[in-house]
Amino acid sequence: MLKVNENFVKLPASYLFVDINNKVNAFMKEHPEQEIIRLGIGDVTRPLPKAVVEAMCAAAKEMGEAETFRGYGPEAGYAFLREAIAKNDFQARGIDISADEIFVSDGAKSDTGSIGDIFGVDNVVAVCDPVYPVYVDTNVMAGRAGDYVEGKGWSKIVYMPCKEENGFLPEIPQQPVDMIYLCFPNNPSGVGITKEALEKWVDYALENQSILLYDAAYEAFITDPDMPHSIFEIEGAKKCAIEFRSFSKTAGFTGTRCAFSVIPKELEYDGVSLNKLWDRRQSTKMNGVSYVVQRGAEAVYSEEGKKEVRENIAYYLNNAKIIREGLKKAGFTVYGGEHSPYVWLKTPQGVSSWEFFDMLLEKCGVVGTPGSGFGANGEGFFRLTSFNTKENTEKALAKIVAAFAG
Ligand code: PLP
Repeated sequence: MLKVNENFVKLPASYLFVDINNKVNAFMKEHPEQEIIRLGIGDVTRPLPKAVVEAMCAAAKEMGEAETFRGYGPEAGYAFLREAIAKNDFQARGIDISADEIFVSDGAKSDTGSIGDIFGVDNVVAVCDPVYPVYVDTNVMAGRAGDYVEGKGWSKIVYMPCKEENGFLPEIPQQPVDMIYLCFPNNPSGVGITKEALEKWVDYALENQSILLYDAAYEAFITDPDMPHSIFEIEGAKKCAIEFRSFSKTAGFTGTRCAFSVIPKELEYDGVSLNKLWDRRQSTKMNGVSYVVQRGAEAVYSEEGKKEVRENIAYYLNNAKIIREGLKKAGFTVYGGEHSPYVWLKTPQGVSSWEFFDMLLEKCGVVGTPGSGFGANGEGFFRLTSFNTKENTEKALAKIVAAFAG
């Protein structure tokens, strides 16, 4: 009889956003007059930059003419996009990354989720707690996570607590770890990392022959000129790190789909090139991203595209500022939101993340995300996002101030 993949069966269903929706729907039924403002989800709301739309329209027209039509494209991405990425995101910052180290894909979720394919199943995985759940769940699917122990998490995964007292930054684990997932600016806490703090991880990985899987999906939100946008700004990182980037939050591509991973050619373990291994994996399992979308992504790097992206990011960062300032006025302790679209607030003394969710919904009609949904160390915290309009964000915060201040 057919056997299914038991690793998949082990994985509990993800209820976080289902539970949130159920609660919101029940509340709306009971209070049809109450306006609901959603500051919960991590999806962008600003439209695509005009430069991107124009480039995609022109590319769609090319696909309709025999002379310019294109069929299957290169799985790792067209040279025009790989070169634009290498030049603008890396070389312009003095980072020596070339086009053949860039692999274009449909998402940082796909890449962070699939990268484990090229690593042995016996590697020890370390993740931050709280964490973007994809890193954990895909390692469960791969059979690297062990068994789920209620209240403790997966038996073979090493959780690195990110707490208020350590500035929500992970500390080097006591036991040796092989695959280390880091994400900065962080989802969900919204905090960024300094060069000095990142250097410690690079030193550790080089010493222990581990790999850093660095998710920089939110780098475009960094406002501090000294904060690293890329792990490859750190010396030695090309020998021990892979970086994941995305056009999703930068340029509004959540529905359009385009991202990329950076796998340096210097990255070798036991004489095996990870760049070649990933190329082999991608060309076997993935069809690449459509020509039209890649032309759109290329336009992100045009002068007009860059300007529009900067404006969109500034819009979200201004919302984050409104959230931070409103929350402070209402008496909350607040983190994140300065280099990130996410604001991480501490729930009032003795109030759990879910209790606070109910409180905020009932008192203000505002929907956020309970920190405990991202891991045990998220308990007592709550995430609000800046992906709404300025008007709605202001309205939500005015309600929060009225309900909680004083
Ligand atoms: N990485 C992090 C940390 C995220 O928060 C998200 C989306 O919320 C992603 C990756 C997914 O990016 P993409 O839309 O490129 O799949």
